[in-house]
Amino acid sequence: MSRRGSLLGTFFPPLAVTLIVTLVLVTGFSGRALRQFFLDRTGTELENLALVSASLFDSPVGDRDDRAVQELCRAIGKTTGTRLTVILDDGTVIGDSAEDPALMDNHAARPEIVAARQGRIGRSTRYSPTLDQRRMYVAVARDAAGTRYVVRTSVSLAALAAIMSDVYRKIALAGLVLTLLAGLTSYLLSRKLSRSLQQLQSGAEAFARGDLDDRLQTADTTEIACVADAMNRMASQLTDRFDTIVKQRNESEAVLSSMVEGVMAVDDREQVIGLNRAGGQLLGQDPAAVVNRSVQEVGRNSGLTRLVRDALAGHGPLEADIRLGVDQERWLQVHATGLIGADGHPIGALLVMNDVTRLRHLENMRRDFVANVSHELKTPITSIKGFVETLLEDPPDDRDEQERFLRIINKQADRLDAIITDLLALSRLEQTTGDGGLESHCQPVQPVLERVLRDLANLRPDSAARVTLNCPADLTAAINAPLIEQAVNNLLDNALKYSPDDSPVSVRCCAAGDEVAVSVTDLGPGIPAEHLPRLFERFYRVDKARSRQMGGTGLGLAICKHIAQAHRGRIAVTSDVGRGSTFTMYLPRQECA
Ligand code: ADP
Repeated sequence: MSRRGSLLGTFFPPLAVTLIVTLVLVTGFSGRALRQFFLDRTGTELENLALVSASLFDSPVGDRDDRAVQELCRAIGKTTGTRLTVILDDGTVIGDSAEDPALMDNHAARPEIVAARQGRIGRSTRYSPTLDQRRMYVAVARDAAGTRYVVRTSVSLAALAAIMSDVYRKIALAGLVLTLLAGLTSYLLSRKLSRSLQQLQSGAEAFARGDLDDRLQTADTTEIACVADAMNRMASQLTDRFDTIVKQRNESEAVLSSMVEGVMAVDDREQVIGLNRAGGQLLGQDPAAVVNRSVQEVGRNSGLTRLVRDALAGHGPLEADIRLGVDQERWLQVHATGLIGADGHPIGALLVMNDVTRLRHLENMRRDFVANVSHELKTPITSIKGFVETLLEDPPDDRDEQERFLRIINKQADRLDAIITDLLALSRLEQTTGDGGLESHCQPVQPVLERVLRDLANLRPDSAARVTLNCPADLTAAINAPLIEQAVNNLLDNALKYSPDDSPVSVRCCAAGDEVAVSVTDLGPGIPAEHLPRLFERFYRVDKARSRQMGGTGLGLAICKHIAQAHRGRIAVTSDVGRGSTFTMYLPRQECA
């Protein structure tokens, strides 16, 4: 990992190095230029002085008046502050403003003297052994009445060195101040920049955490302000997109969770991506806990797994009925189809599940019912057809025998009539219950029950003598009187039919909470417990032979159940084998206005 430094640490050292290098270079170049300028100017001044003052020496040199030469040298040297030396052509010094010429050695070999003697203006910058310092010399040659001599001016360069070192010192000082200023400026600037960047960073971190409501402050720098603006725009757009995504997700979740069909989405590795509430109920799973679990684990059904695999293999929309549950059988009708991603590639499968247990149950009931009706009708029809064929093809000679045949045919026809009447009654009741439009009136129950007993007494006085009625006169309910009469009549008929001829039967009516209980009790043989749950099914009989012999259709109790249900009530049975049975209809109680 690369090491990262602070903004100041990154920018300041190269800046300081650049400044120092620049300063050194500028100082070097300007110092040299200054020095050169100074030397050029000094040289020119020395040259001018040499040229001007040279002519003054023509007369004393021509006269060889060395004393006059010496005095003139001193006078000019004193006035101009410049050392003046007069040298003869052979190098003998005859005058010097600073030293005694007699003590000075021969100057013929001095470079400036050599150049002057050759007719040029001699210049030399060198160390002076006489004065023990660096000096600049300018020499010009003259001819005074045949005597050649050289006038040399010179000045010490010690002042120049002092000036230059002063200049260098000042430049260095200025450089130092400049470097410090640059350091301070870059520190302040980088600190400001760092703060702005830190603000951007904390803003970006807040955005990354999903905190998209805050906005970044606009910074002073245009570039950072642009970045802040861009990030703020990004946050607004993200907020909009998140809102849209959340809204869409909520909508689709609401749609999925309010669907009555179970919906399960599976990815291409057969792992569950999602399951709606109805799906969770159908499969007995918590929808939140099944995500990322395998479909085998969630469905626990080989048929379901196979269907998912077929759908993933791209075998078009599929449909299958799948049986679930061990104790309680449940049937699911499942439609499976492949899920296609935005790029057109398969990404999984979608299952839509419907609970068809009730439908299956109804279908089974319908099938059983058709089989039962056919069977019930077939017996009398076969019997009728047999006797009619016998009468047609081979009529018995005996008139009594013929009459017996006709009575059997009549009995079977009555049986057919009874079955069809009961079936029609059931059908009408079902229709009434389905429409929810049972015509009922609030009325006392007692008169209805009395009518049943009265009808019975008219038809079968012996049977009616066995029946007692016990019903309070003030008990009222919203009932359809003819239907209740029919139901009580069926129950009473069964009680009389299945109990011994001399045993009593009681019809009772009482209030039971917010219900009216109408019961018929006999002291007959009773019904074994295992038959009780199915007793109210159509054509269900405890003892088939006995029921047929008694002229029963096997539909009486089913009709009673439907009549009770049409009144939003119910029917129940309690029975002790050998002691008798009690059938009770519970109807909603109602006080009549
Ligand atoms: P059925 O026409 O055969 O009487 P129901 O639907 O009225 O048909 O009754 C169904 C069966 O219930 C009867 O076949 C009979 O076995 C039994 N059952 C009904 N009522 C009684 C009762 N009071 N005592 C004993 N068995 C009864």
